[in-house]
Amino acid sequence: MAKKKIVVLGGGESGIGAAVLAKVKGFDVFLSDGGAIKAEAVKTLNKFDIPFEQGGHSESIVLAADEVIKSPGIPESAHIVLSIREKCIPIISEIEFAGRYDRAKKICITGSNGKTTTTSLIYYMLKNAGLNVGLAGNIGKSYAYQVATERYDYYVIELSSFQLDGMYQFKADIAIITNITPDHLDRYEFKMQNYINAKFRIAQNLTEKECFVFCADDPITATELDKIVLTAKMLPFTQKDKVDQGSFIDEDRLYVRYEDDEYSMYLKELALQGKHNVYNSMAAAIAAKAVNIDNKVIRESLMNFQGVEHRLEKVLTVKGVLYINDSKATNVDSAWYALESMTSPVVWIAGGTDKGNDYSPIHKFAKEKVKVLICMGLDNEKLHREFADKIEKIIDVKSAKEAVQAAYENSVPGDTVLLSPCCASFDLFKNYEDRGEQFKKAVREL
Ligand code: ADP
Repeated sequence: MAKKKIVVLGGGESGIGAAVLAKVKGFDVFLSDGGAIKAEAVKTLNKFDIPFEQGGHSESIVLAADEVIKSPGIPESAHIVLSIREKCIPIISEIEFAGRYDRAKKICITGSNGKTTTTSLIYYMLKNAGLNVGLAGNIGKSYAYQVATERYDYYVIELSSFQLDGMYQFKADIAIITNITPDHLDRYEFKMQNYINAKFRIAQNLTEKECFVFCADDPITATELDKIVLTAKMLPFTQKDKVDQGSFIDEDRLYVRYEDDEYSMYLKELALQGKHNVYNSMAAAIAAKAVNIDNKVIRESLMNFQGVEHRLEKVLTVKGVLYINDSKATNVDSAWYALESMTSPVVWIAGGTDKGNDYSPIHKFAKEKVKVLICMGLDNEKLHREFADKIEKIIDVKSAKEAVQAAYENSVPGDTVLLSPCCASFDLFKNYEDRGEQFKKAVREL
């Protein structure tokens, strides 16, 4: 019998991983990338003897596939994807493919904000508990590559909505949705419901044996749950009510209840501060209880976790002014939480590529907490329009160095300088990491 033909579209981290796994599992594999493939990735393809092309797609090969594994970065509207759909060739994501060959317990995290923080925190807890655990998905090394080359008992997997789009049979053991707020709508025909549906695919195959962890305070998640039926163990987290199962707050303590067991600790003991991080810690603690991690390990982990770079990361205090790098705040909701957690006057650095932002949720914080707004972008007109009557002073800059200099000149001891841009970084920087790095470098050079 002829071998099943698998075509992998896209030669980035996930595509290379998928191709390697397909090869190891004995398929006839071909990788096709419309752009250039990095030298490192080419080396891996050669090492595993995987044929590939770059700079375009050969339809004669791609359209002869039995199954296509598509990288999450390639949109449905791409010409090659439309052609594959027309021929009714199934298209799946790398995660769906790798899930077929992985018997590990899978803790999967999606959401509009907080994915990386919650994923990293859960991974940290499982490691501290001495479990044999891998970290994968939208973070670090490709899941498929690890399934091909390693053996783990547990995986903690961060999933973007684009990865979820190509998932059908994959089943999580614990599925977490941190929250849902508008983001990436350009990839969902500007229909919020399409984006919500993508996020909820994380729960699509759960049975009563698996857990569904979600934020009961999130209106979009709650409304969706009113419309659908899930058979999983439902484990909400909330800062408003008390719950029988899941996590809640009572006065100054955080509680987790899972089956007959209870865990609690003081909120002030949490390493990650801010209302949003309390949510992330709750979600992580529920997952930890559900895999039966010792209370002592949970407590120590929640107390000692160092946070993730570029997420409300404290950089330095210079002349009594604290500088915070929240470069990953690329949408309004994440900047809302950053501003919400500020307790001293703020010099706020924002701006970049606007994704059709509605800034109204942060008008109030801008008025109450921000003394100076530094707009760091090529086109700052919208920020001026939004905030001119709310913030006393607005300054325009075109680089991280200029932004930090302006912040330095316009702050006094006790202030906080917060880079929390609300916007993507592509107008002035390579990506949000580059923006955060340049910001930190400029702060260190003050
Ligand atoms: P993601 O991986 O979903 O982008 P991150 O953990 O990288 O999430 O955080 C992205 C941004 O969102 C950061 O600015 C962070 O401070 C903020 N953030 C983190 N957790 C939450 C949350 N639960 N709700 C809202 N914003 C959050």
